[in-house]
Amino acid sequence: MKVFSEIKLLQKELNLLKSQKISIGFVPTMGALHMGHLSLIEKCKKECGKCIVSIFVNPLQFNNSNDLKNYPITKEKDMKLLEESTCDILFLPSVEEMYPKTENLELDIGLLEKSMEGLYRPGHLKGMAIVVSKFFKIIQPEKAYFGEKDFQQLAVVRKLVKDLDLKIQIVGLPTKRDPNGLAISSRNLLLTERERNEAAIIYKTLVYARRNTDRLSPIELKLECIKRLEEQPLKVEYLEIADSETLEVVREWDNSEKPRAFVAAYLGKVRLIDNMSLID
Ligand code: AMP
Repeated sequence: MKVFSEIKLLQKELNLLKSQKISIGFVPTMGALHMGHLSLIEKCKKECGKCIVSIFVNPLQFNNSNDLKNYPITKEKDMKLLEESTCDILFLPSVEEMYPKTENLELDIGLLEKSMEGLYRPGHLKGMAIVVSKFFKIIQPEKAYFGEKDFQQLAVVRKLVKDLDLKIQIVGLPTKRDPNGLAISSRNLLLTERERNEAAIIYKTLVYARRNTDRLSPIELKLECIKRLEEQPLKVEYLEIADSETLEVVREWDNSEKPRAFVAAYLGKVRLIDNMSLID
């Protein structure tokens, strides 16, 4: 595996590969790598000549400075995992390398920023969209891989590619889970074993939602799910039933062909998110 931290050196390597007609697949991450990230890397290498992974904890997408300070960093373990994976190139830029100027970068992601993650983490989706756009411009991959775990992020990236006419195929892959159903996340490192077991209620509640769409209206289902979560030591930030394409709230089942349940909840100080399709 080759490792680059400078954009110029990375691009020199990529130009060489592209001149040999080798296709480039890209997996952006913030490190603290786990099975979810590895599933993206594996798929990427299956579909592309070379797989490039970035590790960059992007300050622009943290609306809370404590959250940024506490974000887990496990660089050595990550490097070892990547060495053993199908990753060919690791891009590990510094904050100065990615944001050399003090200019105020702006990007309008429209309505997608007005609900759920956009609403509760102001600036988060925009910050993510800015860094992903920069990565796309630097790397110019043919394909880029994202997890459905961050479904709203995936929707923003798809919109970005469409709006800017980028020739990059976005591949969304299913959420990897612990055996108890908890969606694997770098933030799970901040949970005790007991809390990890308690947090599995999020998955169980989403499964409950999926099984009860015939019996309850979207609003009844939402309220019932919140009640179930709050019977546990969880504080729900939002639980929404929204359309998978538009992310608009679903008020009647007839209004959406692909309804999906989305949740963000705190277990102690740790914020966990998850989502699940409510149809097969
Ligand atoms: P992160 O490092 O959290 O920014 O995530 C990097 C990429 O990995 C994003 O596209 C995430 O959606 C994806 N990802 C994170 N957790 C999972 C998971 N449990 N299963 C599948 N993909 C995931």
